[in-house]
Amino acid sequence: MILRFKILCECYFQIEKTQKKLEMVDILADTLINAKADEIGKISLLTIGKIYPDFLGIELMLAEKMAIRALALATGMSDKSVTKMLEELGDLGKTAHNLLENKPQSTLLAFTNQKEETEYDVLEIWTKLDSIAQMTGEGSSDKKIRTLSGLISKISPLEARYIIRIVCGQLRLGVASQLLLEALSKAKTGSRENKNLLERANNRCADIGFVAETLYSGGLEEVRKIEVKLFSPIRVMLAQRVSSSNEMLERFNGRCSLEYKYDGLRVQIHKKGTNVKLFSRRPENVTNQFPDVIKFINEAAIEDEFIVEGEIVAFDRIRNKILSFQLVAQRKRKHDIEQKTSEIPVRVYLFDTLFCFDESKLDMDYLERRKLLDEIIRKTDNIQFSHQTIASTADEIESFFHQALEESCEGIMGKSVSEGSKYQAGARGWNWVKYKADYVDKLSDAFDLVILGADYGKGKRAGKFGSFLLGCYNPDENLFQTFTWVATGFSDENLDELHRDLKPLIRDKPKEVHSVVESNVWFDPKVVIEVSGAEITVSQMHTCSRGFLEKETDGLALRFPRFTGKFVSDRPPEQATSSEEIRTIYLNQRNK
Ligand code: AMP
Repeated sequence: MILRFKILCECYFQIEKTQKKLEMVDILADTLINAKADEIGKISLLTIGKIYPDFLGIELMLAEKMAIRALALATGMSDKSVTKMLEELGDLGKTAHNLLENKPQSTLLAFTNQKEETEYDVLEIWTKLDSIAQMTGEGSSDKKIRTLSGLISKISPLEARYIIRIVCGQLRLGVASQLLLEALSKAKTGSRENKNLLERANNRCADIGFVAETLYSGGLEEVRKIEVKLFSPIRVMLAQRVSSSNEMLERFNGRCSLEYKYDGLRVQIHKKGTNVKLFSRRPENVTNQFPDVIKFINEAAIEDEFIVEGEIVAFDRIRNKILSFQLVAQRKRKHDIEQKTSEIPVRVYLFDTLFCFDESKLDMDYLERRKLLDEIIRKTDNIQFSHQTIASTADEIESFFHQALEESCEGIMGKSVSEGSKYQAGARGWNWVKYKADYVDKLSDAFDLVILGADYGKGKRAGKFGSFLLGCYNPDENLFQTFTWVATGFSDENLDELHRDLKPLIRDKPKEVHSVVESNVWFDPKVVIEVSGAEITVSQMHTCSRGFLEKETDGLALRFPRFTGKFVSDRPPEQATSSEEIRTIYLNQRNK
C-alpha cells in the first residue's frame, strides 16, 4: 500500500509533541516501516524539510508573504487577517491548521469548487511541491501562490500545517539527518545499530534520499556498496583544534604533516571532461559563482576525471599576496557574478585527492592521496597545492606556523601521516588538527557560534536586536547548547544585516536548543558568527558541556565575548564549534 501523506503528517504531529530523541526515532520508524522502496527517498527528504538534496540547488523557500497570500486565497480571508493570526500564533503551520480547521466548510467550497478533501499519497504531494519549486521567471510568484492555495484548499488542516512549513523552509520537526538515519535503520533492519552503515553511505554521497532508497530496495548489502560518485558531493572532513605545537606532536606521536591553513572558502571540485562542478562545505553547488575557477581547473588538469579539495582565497597578483576572508566571502553572492569575478580575483590551494583513476581514494592514507595531486593536476599560477612539510619537533612546527602567519594564513593544519590516516568523510576527527593564531593568545580564542536567540536593543540599538544568545553544537545529542551572550564588536551595518537576516528566522523556542536562560526571541539555529573571548569559565547560566563537569547543573561559558566581524556563512550550524572542542580548550586552559 502506498503511504498517504496524511499518515505521514500524523507521524509528524506525534514527533512535534515529544522532546525525547529516542521517542522521535521510534515514532518515525513506526511510520517508515510501511513505506515502499520507490517512495522512501522522497519521504526521507520531506521529513527533513526538503524535496531535493542540497547540492542540486532546487529549493522551495517561498517567502512568508507568498504563503500568507496562498492561505488567504484558499480560505477566502484577507491577507491582513491571516497575518494577524500568524502574529498571534507565531508559526505559519499552526496558522494554516487553525484557519482550515475553523473555517466553515461552505466558505472553502465556495472558493475552491471542491466537493471534499482529496486524499493524496506522498508521491503526489512531492510532485506538486516539485512543480512549485521548478516555476521560475516572470509571473512565477503568482503561479506558485495559486498552485499552493489550490493544494491547500483540497487537503486536511493537519496536512496544510506541514505543507506550508515545508514550502517556506520551516518544517522544524527537530529531525536532523542523524535522527532520520537512525529511524530508517530501525524501520528496515529492526535495529538502530545499523545507522553507522547508513551514515557512512550518506557521508560519501550527501544524498539521504538515495541512501534510503538503496536500503529499501537492496538492503544493507547494497548500502555497503555505496561509493563516491562524481558530481555527488562527499561530506567534508573536519579538524579538531590544538593550542600548542607540543600538543600537536603528542596527538600525532611525534611526527606529522603540516600545511598552511588558508583563510578562504573550502571547495570540493568534481571534474569529468570539461564538466566541472564546485561544492561548498555545506554542501551546496557553488559552480556558477566561480567561472574563473572552472577555467583554471580545466587549464591545469592532466587527468580527465577527479574529485579534489582545496581552499579558494582572494589573491592580489600584483603584490603576490593572499587577501582577507571577507573579500573572498563576497564571491559567494548569486548576483553580480561577472563584476565580482573581475573585482575579486582568486587563487585555489589544493590539499587532497578524493577520487581519480576510476575509484574512490577516501580509504587511502593521507600522504598517498596528497601525492596523487601531482599526477592529476599541474600547478599553475592560479592552481597551487597547499604549502606542506613534514615535522617531528616543536621548533619545526613553530617555525612553519610563523611562516604561515607571515604569508597571510590563519594558522596551520597538522595531518596524520600514520597508517590508517584515511579521509574521514563527514567527521571532525583527530586525523586533522588546526592550530590557529588566535589559539596561541588565550585572550582572543575564536569560536564559530550559532545565534540561538536575541534581546531587543535599547537606545541607539532600539528597533534592532541588541544582544545575541550564542551556542555551540553537540553532535552526540543533536542539540545546540548555549555558551554566551554577545553584544560587543558589532558595527551599525552588522546590526542592520543581522536584523534583516534573523527576523524571518524567529520562531517558538526550538526543541533542538537547550537553554536555561530566556531571550526575547528565538531563532531557527542557522546563522553562524565568529566570536572571540577572554576565558572559558564554569557557569550555571549556560548549558555547553553540561553533564561533563563536577555538578550536573554546571556548564561552560565564555567571558568577555566579542564579535570578530566574521559571518561564517559557508558553514552549516552543525559544523560550528562543538561542545567537545570547547571542553578541550577549557581543560587546556585549566592545565596552564
Ligand atoms: P575550521 O574551519 O576552522 O574548522 O578549519 C578547517 C577548515 O580549514 C577546512 O574546512 C578548510 O576550509 C580550511 N583549510 C585551509 N587550509 C587547509 C588545508 N591545508 N587543509 C585542510 N583544510 C584547510
